[in-house]
Amino acid sequence: MSHLEKTNAIVLTKLNFGDTSKIVTLFTEEFGKETCIIKGGRSSKSKFGAIIDVMNHVQVIFYKKQSREVQLISQADLISHFPHIKQNLDSLKYASGVLELLNSLTISNEQNSKLFRGTIKILNLMDKEENHPQLLFVKYLMFFVDELGYSLKEYECKICGNPLDENSDVLYNQEKGFMCVNCGKHQLINFEFSKELFKLLICLSGRQNECKYSIENLNRLVSFFEKFLKYHIPEFKGIKSIYTL
Ligand SMILES: [Zn+2]
Repeated sequence: MSHLEKTNAIVLTKLNFGDTSKIVTLFTEEFGKETCIIKGGRSSKSKFGAIIDVMNHVQVIFYKKQSREVQLISQADLISHFPHIKQNLDSLKYASGVLELLNSLTISNEQNSKLFRGTIKILNLMDKEENHPQLLFVKYLMFFVDELGYSLKEYECKICGNPLDENSDVLYNQEKGFMCVNCGKHQLINFEFSKELFKLLICLSGRQNECKYSIENLNRLVSFFEKFLKYHIPEFKGIKSIYTL
């Protein structure tokens, strides 16, 4: 038995399938990641074929059958196609990074509405072009890691328990976590935070909108989160789109 379901979704990937169809990966609000087929989607006459395009925010109706891996799209409406993101190479690069994280690191059919809403929010912010897209991307990475179930927001030395604040140089070990410089002397160090970098991390993890940053420090934080994800999820090979676009 299959039944019709309606949900909001963001389109992660789109590929030709056979002579006439398209296969798309959607991150949906109600059902998590879903693979769907658009029959006739390769034809220029296909209305849904055009609407369901990579990075578009859409509302879809599809026939869902639990036993089937690929669901059949029945209808689609466009909510936003984020026109400004697609015209700005930097925004496009980091928005593609967002889609890549969802595609490679979320599990099919595992609902996470909060992650969905956070994704739409960050794409809307990138589309508004008020903040640097890389700054938004780092904020998203922190949110994403949190939603995957890892907690990086306890800012204390994991060895002596002393609080770590924006006036501390901080060391990081993948197994143990954050450490003060004193305790880190005898540990393997996977990442070093300068005071300035740690201050930025704390600022970005809060709700403040104004954080003092440099591009160099944003690059360092992206690299930190990539290393973190690679360590915890060995199949993860890094965020390719932010380096190739
Ligand atoms: Zn310590």
